[in-house]
Formats: sequence, C-alpha cells, structure tokens
Amino acid sequence: MADLTSLRRWVPSIFIEDICPNPRARPEDWIATHPNGAKWLFSDDVCEQQPVRVDIGDIVRFNWVVDHGTFEITLHPNGSWSCDDALPEGANGFMEPSDTDTYAETMDEFASNYVAVGRNTEDEPCYVKVLTWSDDLYFRLHKADGSKLVFSQVAMANLETQKTPTPQVVNGHSAGLSFIGLRAANIARQKIWCPDPNQQPDLAFRGIELAGETGEALNVIKKLERENRGWVGSRSTKQDLADELADVVICADLVSLSAGIDLDQAVRTKFNATSAKVGIPVTLGPSQEA
Ligand SMILES: [Mg+2]
Repeated sequence: MADLTSLRRWVPSIFIEDICPNPRARPEDWIATHPNGAKWLFSDDVCEQQPVRVDIGDIVRFNWVVDHGTFEITLHPNGSWSCDDALPEGANGFMEPSDTDTYAETMDEFASNYVAVGRNTEDEPCYVKVLTWSDDLYFRLHKADGSKLVFSQVAMANLETQKTPTPQVVNGHSAGLSFIGLRAANIARQKIWCPDPNQQPDLAFRGIELAGETGEALNVIKKLERENRGWVGSRSTKQDLADELADVVICADLVSLSAGIDLDQAVRTKFNATSAKVGIPVTLGPSQEA
C-alpha cells in the first residue's frame, strides 16, 4: 500500500458534518487567535461550524483525510459496479464530486444507493470522488519553542471505545486513571453540555462548582461520623462518599481547564515538590501518555 502520509489533510472532528470545511495541512492550521489572546479552532470556510475555544493542555480530536481524486466507475442496473482502475486500498469515502448527499462508506453502498433512487436503467458511467478518512485521533495543544502552539498526538485509544482505562504504572505505583483521559472526556462532555461558545462556564462558576462538590463530600463525611458516634439523623454510605469525591476530582479538572492549567503536570510537580520538602523518596514519573 502506497505511503500517503504526506497527502493527509486534517479537520477537527467536531467540524465534520454534511458540509465539511476544507481540510488543512496540519492540525495547528486550525488555530486562530482572538485579539484578546484567546485561542479558537476557527473554520473560515462557507460552513456553519461554530468556533471552538481551546487552551494549552486541551485534548482535541482530529481526523485526517486523503483525497485520492476522481475515478470513472461504471454503474450497472443490478446495483453492481466496475472500474478499469484499482480503487485505493482502505478507501472509506465515496461520493459524486460536490454532492455530499451521495456519500457512502463503500463503493458497493454507493452503487446500490445509485440504483435505489432509480437513476440508471443501463450501464452508466459515473465520476466518483474517493477518500480515506482516519479514525478519531487525539491531540494535545501545547507550546513548543517558547511560544509556537502545536498539537502533539496523544498515544491513547479512542476514548469512546475505551470503556476500561488501561492501567499505567508510574514510578512503581499503579495509576489506572489518567488525568489526560479525564480532561479529554470533560472537554467532550462539556461541548455537548454547554454547546454555545459564547456562553461557556467561566473560572468563577467552576470555582463555585468545586466548592459545592467539596461541601457535598463533607456532608457525607458528617453523616458517616454521625453513625460512628451513634447519633440520630440521616445516614450516608461509603459509596455516597466515593460519588462525591469523584465529583470533586472531575470539578478540579474543570477548574484547571478554565484556568488553562495542565492538571496532569501540576499534580506530578506538586506531589514531587512535597516529597522533596518532607524528605520522602516517593515521586511520580513523567506522563506515559503524551
Ligand atoms: Mg455531587
């Protein structure tokens, strides 16, 4: 199979709709800077995709696409097809040029759709644009060479299919959950939860939210302590405490996201600084994911 790496062009996954903006040479080519310094993924094509705010440390999904050009296909009335040229191996996008309504993931599907709408009663030539799309790939936005913003691919499985986090070992300690994975999931969920880029929760909201979840955790601890002491009143369980502590961690990541903090790095740095301060030789190693 020919190496088509140099032909790959990139699109943020969130912009891929029926009308997809023109792909660009590199993921970084989508970054636009607002006069106030904020970074956005910005589609300036004639599309309706809303700009998406991004910050240092964010995980963003991209897909690459290779355009193999146009092939002349002969469509037969029985729904089959033939082509004098070999179609590119692995191609998974077939459409009539400029007609996204005809898009199909296989040539067989394209041909049968063509017949299904009653368009051919005899062998008919048809020009078909052939594409290969990648799966969703995850990239992290960071600064290189001082100030240049770049996206670096994050070596982790597609989050939507990664139901069980892959345990990783950090300095001998099993760390099954990753802050990078949590950040990616928080970003993906927030885009659905708060879709309007002009109405995004700010740092103040996130801070109040974190305080609220911390209070909920403390209320559970109060009830557990009440039970320990045999006093009357409502009760809580260890599971209730687990739920609220999980909310605290999730909210801490959302605060970090609002403040532009790389929580993964911040935890490693702070943990190691505290160990050094108190003279305990237990440290967290560098991230295994980025
Ligand atoms: Mg809660």
